[in-house]
Amino acid sequence: MEAMGYLVIAFFFGLAGGIVGRIKGSSFFIWFLISGLIPVFGLLAAVFYRWDKEELRRQCPGCGQVLKLHDAVCMRCGEELEFPDVAIASEAAMRQRPA
Ligand SMILES: [Zn+2]
Repeated sequence: MEAMGYLVIAFFFGLAGGIVGRIKGSSFFIWFLISGLIPVFGLLAAVFYRWDKEELRRQCPGCGQVLKLHDAVCMRCGEELEFPDVAIASEAAMRQRPA
């Protein structure tokens, strides 16, 4: 009966991971498999997947480097950054835009 219980848990984790993956514009099936095979970590991976790429970005006024919106100091030139008036769309949003 233990294997059965594990399968049920794996199934629900797979379902949750698949839904999260789908919401993020990835494949439901792939994340269903990942989350089902490695239940807890698969789901976490789905939750954090592309997290970075969906963050808004901004440009450093000093050197033009594109940084994360929440960065306080430019990693390239050391410029201290105010919170910007304009943010640059996230990488993910840019990709979804029709060319
Ligand atoms: Zn800079």
